[in-house]
Amino acid sequence: MKKFSLIILVIVALFSLTACGDSSKKESKETKSDKKKVYKVGVDATYPPFEWQVNGEYKGIDIDLIKAIADKAGFEIEIQSMDFKGIIPALQSKQLDISIAGMSITDERKKIIDFSNPYFDAGLSVVVSKDNTSIKSGADLNGKTIAVKKGTSGATYAVENFASKGAKVIQFDNSPAMFEEVKAGRADALIEDYPVISYAIVDQKLPLKVVGDRLNADQYGIGVLKGSNDGLVKQINDALAELKADGTYQEIVDQYLK
Ligand code: GLN
Repeated sequence: MKKFSLIILVIVALFSLTACGDSSKKESKETKSDKKKVYKVGVDATYPPFEWQVNGEYKGIDIDLIKAIADKAGFEIEIQSMDFKGIIPALQSKQLDISIAGMSITDERKKIIDFSNPYFDAGLSVVVSKDNTSIKSGADLNGKTIAVKKGTSGATYAVENFASKGAKVIQFDNSPAMFEEVKAGRADALIEDYPVISYAIVDQKLPLKVVGDRLNADQYGIGVLKGSNDGLVKQINDALAELKADGTYQEIVDQYLK
């Protein structure tokens, strides 16, 4: 009796081992052929209408756009939010594969990043308190205190064009902190991307206003670390072109900007 149960045990053990071997073989085959690539995408989730979070869900133009691009191009994404200033370093350290963060295409950044074709025309604006009557454009910023966001094209612009004329430039980690500074009267002006500040003024009923013409014609691009992308930028560009041609791109934009 004892011998009999031992034999059964051995048979069962052998059987399960073979079964196990088989299924793991099958799984690894599937992993190779069917599993899509997962790319880590960095966003600046304090940046409506491009990206923000509502009840833990990411939403906005950048979010919908990168999801639609991933669907078309056949890859998956995992979104990670961080302060804007952390996004380029995170691409460099390969913590991120892709950036979509209302990020302007600049010559300086092109040394580090391969950008997609432009997907949105933005441009920088000077913003002051609603009842400020003395600052009517960038020309009136001499000697004033200007709030900017660290690592942005707005920060670079303010340092290069206004600090040299005696303005004091103070830097913040995110856009809401910068808006607060002007609201509270601790800064005379701030520099922000036009579509973002005009959306925030209406949506959050901010007591701020845009003055003068846009300072530049910044355009947004989706970024990938230079030289590390293995055709990823082309995949993104092809998907973007298809989404523009089939109307999906415009539908996404219209959903957030009316
Ligand atoms: N467009 C600006 C830049 O690229 C600001 C982006 C942002 O604050 N998310 O620097």
